[in-house]
Amino acid sequence: MIEPHGGELIDRTVNEKYSEQLRSEADSNESIKLTSKQYQDAINIGTGRFSPIKGFLTRNDFLKVVHDMTLEDGTVWTLPITLDINIDLAEKLSLGEKVSLISPSNQMIGVIKIEEIYKHNPSENIKNLFGTEDKEHPGVTAYHNQGSFFVGGPIYLFDEIRYNSHDLLPVESRVLFQHRGWETIVGFQTRNAPHRAHEYLQKTALEQTDGLLIQPKLGAKKVGDYTDQTILEAYEVLIKNYYQQKQVALSVFPSQMRYAGPREAVFDAIIRKNQGCSHFIIGRDHAGVGDYYDDFGSQSIFNQIGDIGVQPMFFDYAFYCQKCDGMASENICPHEDSNQVHPSGTSIRSSIKNNKLPSDKMMRPEVASHLLNVDKPFIPDQTKE
Ligand SMILES: [Zn+2]
Repeated sequence: MIEPHGGELIDRTVNEKYSEQLRSEADSNESIKLTSKQYQDAINIGTGRFSPIKGFLTRNDFLKVVHDMTLEDGTVWTLPITLDINIDLAEKLSLGEKVSLISPSNQMIGVIKIEEIYKHNPSENIKNLFGTEDKEHPGVTAYHNQGSFFVGGPIYLFDEIRYNSHDLLPVESRVLFQHRGWETIVGFQTRNAPHRAHEYLQKTALEQTDGLLIQPKLGAKKVGDYTDQTILEAYEVLIKNYYQQKQVALSVFPSQMRYAGPREAVFDAIIRKNQGCSHFIIGRDHAGVGDYYDDFGSQSIFNQIGDIGVQPMFFDYAFYCQKCDGMASENICPHEDSNQVHPSGTSIRSSIKNNKLPSDKMMRPEVASHLLNVDKPFIPDQTKE
């Protein structure tokens, strides 16, 4: 089984006795109310999904991530996992103290031991992280909406909190893979109900590996996106009808999209390495948004950073070719473009919204009819209700 990133699977959960002690120590101090993004980050740190980091980043780690895509010790790490607070709270906190972390639903989930409180400079960091400073970019907007200080330090988590019943912690997916006798496992990241190009990529990769881990990134979404439940059910239908059951595992990666394109592609690969994957599928424009990133940027970044222990598998756009009578890509199909049917998430969503079955060249009919039968497959626009 592949080693976790940095060599050790981090576990920041504490036993009951120690958690009682931490609760009483933190009681008299200030607390930090987490946003849903910070809450999920804290759980991912605590349960080892973000190995090797043990807490929210301190200043030197943060700056190295921004400028060099590594932690201070040189380990490749591409997205800043930071805990922002506003100036009022920053003035009340002291170094060395343990401060409660409060979930969005007001549960105390753990504590952070404060090592550093530091100001960050958006104009220095945003261009590096997102390749643009355009305020229309959702990642840039999210960065600007943060408090002006970051708190860094290790965290302690009281419980292993799971997102839903599909959530396999890294230690669990590793046991599952071992149990099934898989030595090579390819990970697949998605935010969508599966269309035929997704299936083609997964199965082409699976020709080379023992197992496939399909792991949708679930969490905060935009209006019009598929709901978490819809994505998982659609995959269950697809797997049941079209996959060798014994070769596939369906789990989730609870995390907010950062829309950081190439950096997020590397991050996604590292997380799947921690889950136990030896390989990871990178399509075109992974974690992209709009036209901000080069189609191949998420592939070339892997050449730039060198070996990170998990093997990226690069794929071109896949389409249905009428002449080949099957899924293909430019690499293997000689026919004219006019024969190509490109599965498009946008076009499929629009069919479903209009209660029409998408073409079976784009989506498997079983999956499509399931989506048509789901009561509310998309995130509703609350302002219109
Ligand atoms: Zn063809």
